[in-house]
Amino acid sequence: MSLVFAPPAAVTVPCAGGGEFPVHRIYCVGRNYAEHAIEMGGSGREPPFFFMKPADAVVPVAEGATGVIDYPTLTSNLHHEIELVVAIGRGGSGIRAADAAAHIWGYAVGLDMTRRDLQNEMKKQGRPWSIGKAFEQSAPIGPIVPIARCGELLSGAITVAVNGTLRQRGDLKDLIWSVNETIEQLSAAWTLQPGDLIYTGTPAGVGAVVRGDVMEGVIAGLGTLKVAVR
Ligand code: MN
Repeated sequence: MSLVFAPPAAVTVPCAGGGEFPVHRIYCVGRNYAEHAIEMGGSGREPPFFFMKPADAVVPVAEGATGVIDYPTLTSNLHHEIELVVAIGRGGSGIRAADAAAHIWGYAVGLDMTRRDLQNEMKKQGRPWSIGKAFEQSAPIGPIVPIARCGELLSGAITVAVNGTLRQRGDLKDLIWSVNETIEQLSAAWTLQPGDLIYTGTPAGVGAVVRGDVMEGVIAGLGTLKVAVR
């Protein structure tokens, strides 16, 4: 095989304890905490729905480091959404919720950065969300903690502060669709592959950041993700 140009570098995320996790796809769940669903105009009890980001939207941030993202173009309302990220280690389709945990390699703290003004405009017009969600550097992520090390995460605080002020606070036990149910639903629609990441949704309190802000996301058992906006 003769490639007509050099292929892009593999996208990887560092793992706690060593090694790099190669990223395949990024799936995201919409409106998965009741209070956030209500703040976005939903009823709080709807079937899960999904969107995607390109794999190279990830911004891996090493333990103890501060990641940097550039304020994106075309928006004046860049929002933080703190999320539990599930890293798939074993693929499959038609996975039952009861068997889903065996497909999880680990977890990370992630930010689903959103150009809210563009997303809202697309919603209003019934058009795809890609321009609001799937832009470059829209998926900062901390180290992936192996499930073998932290166990299955079913509850625990999830928070994000901006410049030291708490903005979002939730608990993983309040996910409308649990991680295992999400894997069942996703794998009914797509064949999951090793390397897939699932951003599982954000609790209430989403809001804007501007250049110079520093976001600090924390999930109990996973540590801190710190990201500055440049
Ligand atoms: Mn989100």
